Amino acid sequence: FPYKGDSIQILFVCRDICPILKDPKALAAVTDLFEEHVRRTYPQVDLIVGLDARGFLFGPLLAQRLGVGFAPIRKKGKLPGPTLSVAYSLEYAKAEAEIQEDAVSAGQKVLIVDDLLATGGTLYAACELIKQQKAEVLGCLVVIELKYLNGSEKLQSTPVFSLIQY
Ligand code: IMP
Repeated sequence: FPYKGDSIQILFVCRDICPILKDPKALAAVTDLFEEHVRRTYPQVDLIVGLDARGFLFGPLLAQRLGVGFAPIRKKGKLPGPTLSVAYSLEYAKAEAEIQEDAVSAGQKVLIVDDLLATGGTLYAACELIKQQKAEVLGCLVVIELKYLNGSEKLQSTPVFSLIQY
């Protein structure tokens, strides 16, 4: 236990995907692996949804490869026009995610893309937004999954595909 007046250091390991973006071969490899998985597992996909902000770096690349559209889910107050929103909890805070009301059509089959799965709160909220629009979430794709936080359990029956696990 720290004595009164001692400072407490909290160690937080932040996984960084920026080196992938800097290396065109690595970025192509990530897109190849996502594309291969989706073509094999979800040939019926209609739309890729990406999460604010690093889901925007991988999602549109994948959508282009697949020949389907892309729609962003953003933090509260960033999207123009009418939106739907959902509140959710992060590790140490509360947040709100939004999607444009006309971004997803009822019955569409959707895959959600983000850079990293930690506790699963963010992807869970994204799934809720898609369901509010009466569309179907086929699964989630992330570059990195922090397995020790058990985020995929929070997503229940929604499958998660990750390229790197810690
Ligand atoms: P979760 O909601 O706890 O699963 O956190 C996932 C969200 O937080 C994602 O949108 C990530 O971009 C971000 N995040 C959490 N931890 C990290 C990290 O170590 N590196 C990069 N992003 C992170």
